[in-house]
Amino acid sequence: TRTPVNVTVTGAAGQIGYALLFRIASGHLLGPDVPVNLRLLEIPQGLKAAEGTAMELDDCAFPLLRNIEITDDANVGFAGANVALLVGARPRTKGMERGDLLSANGGIFKPQGKAINDNAADDIKVLVVGNPANTNALIAQAAAPDVPAERFTAMTRLDHNRAISQLAAKTGAAVSDIKKLTIWGNHSATQYPDIFHAEVAGKNAAELVNDEAWLADTFIPTVAKRGAAIIEARGASSAASAANAAIDHVYTWVNGTAPGDWTSMGIPSDGSYGVPEGLISSFPVTTKDGKYEIVQGLDINEFSRTRIDASVQELAEERDAVRELGLI
Ligand code: NDP
Repeated sequence: TRTPVNVTVTGAAGQIGYALLFRIASGHLLGPDVPVNLRLLEIPQGLKAAEGTAMELDDCAFPLLRNIEITDDANVGFAGANVALLVGARPRTKGMERGDLLSANGGIFKPQGKAINDNAADDIKVLVVGNPANTNALIAQAAAPDVPAERFTAMTRLDHNRAISQLAAKTGAAVSDIKKLTIWGNHSATQYPDIFHAEVAGKNAAELVNDEAWLADTFIPTVAKRGAAIIEARGASSAASAANAAIDHVYTWVNGTAPGDWTSMGIPSDGSYGVPEGLISSFPVTTKDGKYEIVQGLDINEFSRTRIDASVQELAEERDAVRELGLI
């Protein structure tokens, strides 16, 4: 039998945590034959609720779930972690300036990065879900100099999945017929969902749609503002689809992309496509054997270039702001 994989989830008692933990424990994060140990990290006020969730996890009698540990000590929570899902974050509250938000999150992600550095397993893979995810990932990465920088990633898979779904609806295709879609940039309103290289049942998506006004005025804003639309409709945030995307992100990272397809991940830039090196930006990537690679050589047209640049500019501003705050 395989050695269990240690999976740490922060903010485990939150909405996303509640939608996420049961799927990790049932084998969807890593695969149906990989046993897991869960480490739930919470702030002290969240511990009791996390214990309640752990009781429910026990009651599912998941064959793959070996043990659950609940803690408010990051050094304990990340001890031996192979996969860390950083979900807990400080939400933006009314009237909060960006600087306040970034510094509040710095207080969370800097110590977590250090605890990962000091305690996690050598093969640690980190996914940041808590917003602003890209910049929170940058903060954690900077606090973990002994961990290879490329292990710190940010989630744009929900945007990727949303874009696939919108494109499928527009073209009448099945979701499974859509390949090579890309989210570029920041997981924020400036993100750019790119269909110029995407395929719908083997045909180029942009040519098939052939409607730049739809792209600019419907598709892109619908994908970018989907979270707000769900809050408006449901009266609560899109926690289940966010959890699902986190599962997809890690599963694909570990198990690989399908031949002839790619995915989108927020990863440290190597300078590709004019994205300044070091920014954690979303790119088209293929994955294999637990490693990812940026898809190279894509032709970027003017429509795409403007939008990628705008989102990357925002990332650079966030990086400069956290640098000024001494967080990186
Ligand atoms: P959620 O579980 O709903 O969300 C957690 C984070 O995920 C937020 O930063 C949220 O960003 C982000 N997020 C990313 N994508 C989405 C999406 N599609 N929909 C919704 N959220 C998304 O928050 P809760 O408040 O329910 O729970 C947070 C938990 O984290 C609490 O239990 C709290 O105690 C805990 N926490 C733990 C910390 C730790 O372990 N040290 C530190 C801080 C908090 P956005 O703000 O943009 O919605």
